[in-house]
Amino acid sequence: MHDYDLLVVGSANADLVIGVERRPAPGETVLGSDLAVHPGGKGGNQAVAAARLGARTALLARVGDDAHGRLLLESQREAGVDTGGVLVGGAPTGVALITVDPSGDNSIVVSPGANARLTPDDIRAAADLLAGARVVSAQLEIPLETVAEVARTRPPGARFVLNPSPPAPLPDDVLAACDPLVVNEHEARFVLGASAGPGPEDWARALLALGPQSVVITLGADGALVADGRTDAVARIPSLRVDAVDTTGAGDAFTAALAWRLSLGEDIATAAAFAVRVGAAAVTREGAQASFPTAEEVSAL
Ligand code: ATP
Repeated sequence: MHDYDLLVVGSANADLVIGVERRPAPGETVLGSDLAVHPGGKGGNQAVAAARLGARTALLARVGDDAHGRLLLESQREAGVDTGGVLVGGAPTGVALITVDPSGDNSIVVSPGANARLTPDDIRAAADLLAGARVVSAQLEIPLETVAEVARTRPPGARFVLNPSPPAPLPDDVLAACDPLVVNEHEARFVLGASAGPGPEDWARALLALGPQSVVITLGADGALVADGRTDAVARIPSLRVDAVDTTGAGDAFTAALAWRLSLGEDIATAAAFAVRVGAAAVTREGAQASFPTAEEVSAL
């Protein structure tokens, strides 16, 4: 019995954004635009992306007992995410302080805050939530030991999807649980280190050899590449040609869409073909969560 298509375990941040003419040098103060506050964090982004597509989605995360935490919970609920598993308190809500100049270059300071306090104990206490999910999707903006607990203790019926971002060395048993491991080019190179071959097909085969059941590499405007360890097949999934306005959150939208379609029983190449369309739709609009499409908008592409 599954209550959710997708359970996202991950971070929720408030992104505090100020536009500046020039980013400040050390010791310097500059004046900027009015402050904009956007809901973000890879976990929060994935949950909103999936729910907006129509997935029955739950979020397991931790926010502070503060105004940012309430804002994040509200944005999740508005998208239709079940927030019953979001823990409140223990530290201030995670924030990203972002200054962005007219050329689009930014400087970012992240305070993980409550995200860093989502513990393996919290995962054990959420056993019912994990048991109700067809697919569990995680990223690395929460402690690695917490992600490892998800990978190790999830029930056999819950497929584990991991986007190792920001990249960190992964224990062998976590790698082996991934079905798929979802990486962009930068993350693929990090996981492979010096053993990365010349092209994405080589990376996909080398990543599979590290233990995941399957691997998906996202390639920006070039779409994605899928490698299935069950068949040893490696397939290119072409992207859609769109006018890219802002790629923020495209990876999160892609992974959420992929995880949802896998939860419906699609094979990984078919799910990735849908996810590529969702990623393409997300880059045609500004922002992260604000850019995520509905299923109707994806069909209309
Ligand atoms: P980000 O960090 O910007 O969220 P990412 O580096 O994790 O993204 P990408 O590979 O850049 O991931 O993008 C994810 C997916 O989004 C791609 O596989 C593709 O489907 C889609 N996408 C990204 N950029 C473009 C683009 N310019 N045109 C069409 N589709 C795109």
